[in-house]
Amino acid sequence: MGIECCDVCDDPTGNAGRGEGSIFVVRNGKEIGPLCDVCSGDFSCSQCGEIAIELHEGYCLDCTTQNQEELDTHNYTYTHWHQLSSAGREKAIKRGYT
Ligand SMILES: [Zn+2]
Ligand SMILES: [Zn+2]
Repeated sequence: MGIECCDVCDDPTGNAGRGEGSIFVVRNGKEIGPLCDVCSGDFSCSQCGEIAIELHEGYCLDCTTQNQEELDTHNYTYTHWHQLSSAGREKAIKRGYT
């Protein structure tokens, strides 16, 4: 085994291979890697800043899952709001429901 080099810039990654700290990411169904520390930064999640192995609309899987849960909660609130009668909405507004 020689020195592992970055797939992007060809610098040594400082890692020893798959499962030994090497960083691989998947973009558009294609694996890219191993990556050095500098290049792996280009593949990070725009929300949490962690390296996103797979990118889902710009975010890592964890953030995508979290965002989806928040969206579901929001959608529930929204739907609930639209199910209220106008009298119910007035009451809700007085309660500070927005
Ligand atoms: Zn690199
Ligand atoms: Zn993330």
